[in-house]
Amino acid sequence: MSNKDLIKRARKFAAPFRVTKGSKFRLKDVDPGDTLHLQSEDKPRAKEVLSNGVQLLAELQDMLYAQDRWAVLIILQAMDAAGKDGTIKHIMSGVNPQGCQVHSFKSPSPEELDHDYLWRCMKALPNKGNIGIFNRSYYEETLVVRVHKEYLDNEKLPPGLDTRNIWKERFQDIRNFERYLTRNGVIIRKFFLHVSKEEQERRFMERIENPEKNWKFSASDVKERQHRDDYMKAFEDMIRNTATKEAPWYVVPADNKWFTRLVVAAAIIDALASLDLHYPKVDEKKLEELAAAKKTLLSENRKRS
Ligand code: ATP
Ligand code: MG
Repeated sequence: MSNKDLIKRARKFAAPFRVTKGSKFRLKDVDPGDTLHLQSEDKPRAKEVLSNGVQLLAELQDMLYAQDRWAVLIILQAMDAAGKDGTIKHIMSGVNPQGCQVHSFKSPSPEELDHDYLWRCMKALPNKGNIGIFNRSYYEETLVVRVHKEYLDNEKLPPGLDTRNIWKERFQDIRNFERYLTRNGVIIRKFFLHVSKEEQERRFMERIENPEKNWKFSASDVKERQHRDDYMKAFEDMIRNTATKEAPWYVVPADNKWFTRLVVAAAIIDALASLDLHYPKVDEKKLEELAAAKKTLLSENRKRS
């Protein structure tokens, strides 16, 4: 299949999961087990398509890097064990590490808490020509901080600013921030990997029972799961308030890892392909420089032989 066809297919494949206007979005309309028309027998074929996609992604990234104008910011949000890490590992497996930056946002440090909440994220934004991946992001400020209000107390907001409207205000600030980034050449794509409660339990059990996965298990993840309903409400509200045309959310069914990866790869290919990337055009002066360098190399070569 030609790259052009692959791009067309990727665009079509990712489209059903994209949310650009949040007002009508309902999380209950999304089935975490959805695999569109694909069945588990299609898994080997899906893996093959993914590996073609990963290769295409690498080619697009090479141009992005050479062109050095746009930056791409990919945001991943999810409940634990939804597959953020594996998705990053697989999709980015072909890209040049030099043009890719991954940043994981954990509980804020004292230094980070001493600033506004976007501060640490701004510092980690991708350079021009790069793909930056945020494994969690400033959106945690409307998720974990909303579910556990005591985290808001740690943020040392001055009296009067911790209002009843704080979440609405945060959404507004985030929308403005993302518009600002877009206007400066940062392409934003956001992914919510939606895993079901049952599949999450299965993955936790696997982490407990498989010695090679023990290191991934954290008792606090199981505790967090008890707040699932609050989290789902927070995720829904986040998407409803921050899905925009320039910075869409993709709500990705995450009970089948092979499917999740396919959707995320397709959406990133779509984003990069929409930039009409090309290698920088070489001007007359550069062409002369290349011809002169070639001449020098050839004459050195002649002298040696
Ligand atoms: P994994 O478990 O796969 O290694 P992870 O992203 O879950 O990856 P952890 O170190 O387990 O990493 O968890 C990071 C924790 O930090 C999450 O529970 C998250 O909710 C929390 N966190 C991230 N940002 C904030 C924030 N701004 N305020 C409070 N907690 C946050
Ligand atoms: Mg974790």
